[in-house]
Amino acid sequence: MLEALLEVLYPGRCAGCGRGPWPFCDACRDRVRPLAPPWCLRCGSPRWGARVTCRDCPPEPISVARAAFHFSGPVRAAVHRLKFAGWRPVARALGLAAAETWLGTGFPCEVVTWVPLSRRRRAERGFDQAEALARVVGRRLGVPVRRLLARARDDPLTQARRDRAGRLEAMRGRFTARTGVRGRVLLVDDVLTTGATASACAAALLEGGAARIGVLTAARALRLDGIVDVGSRPGLWLPGERLPGSRCQPRAKRPT
Ligand SMILES: [Zn+2]
Ligand SMILES: [Zn+2]
Repeated sequence: MLEALLEVLYPGRCAGCGRGPWPFCDACRDRVRPLAPPWCLRCGSPRWGARVTCRDCPPEPISVARAAFHFSGPVRAAVHRLKFAGWRPVARALGLAAAETWLGTGFPCEVVTWVPLSRRRRAERGFDQAEALARVVGRRLGVPVRRLLARARDDPLTQARRDRAGRLEAMRGRFTARTGVRGRVLLVDDVLTTGATASACAAALLEGGAARIGVLTAARALRLDGIVDVGSRPGLWLPGERLPGSRCQPRAKRPT
């Protein structure tokens, strides 16, 4: 009984493969892809050179977005363990990595909040993974964390089955924000895909009185054509580590 409890609180096993040492074993670290400059200044998608916007930019009214990692391999597995298997310590590892990524954006914020689960989902899972990440991020940034959003109703069609325009349309009005929100808000979630959900949250927060909205996620689903890992050092940083030398960067164009 105690052992089972400890396993949930401190899995002690690699969040990627579930076998090696916590938080990521050497083999999994080699496959983790942090997102790093040169990148799109608005959304943090790796690019050939720094630029102001890009084809991957999330929709308005998000001002700036960043994610710590590409959503693939061990990071994808870790996010799934956090969401569906209740490995809560994963939130600390991913949340700290996200906070480190955010510190380089030059977008200060007055309050941190998160994309809330529906009440039913939250009851099913017993916790909200985005809230868990937001609490780690807020602590690291030294900014208060507040529940500012509510999910109005469940979407009968899952997001995965919609195209980009369909997702945006479906998400409109799904979130309501508290009134009296002020200043720049940092909205935290686990994964950014099309940005439709984050955009709907951002719109609600602005309506509630926020000035600007930044979005920070642990991972981001991106097409990585033309983007590869460079360098040989494993590209993951975790509490107590120095920033890595190896990140996800554009590959030099091959002569054709
Ligand atoms: Zn592993
Ligand atoms: Zn962009």
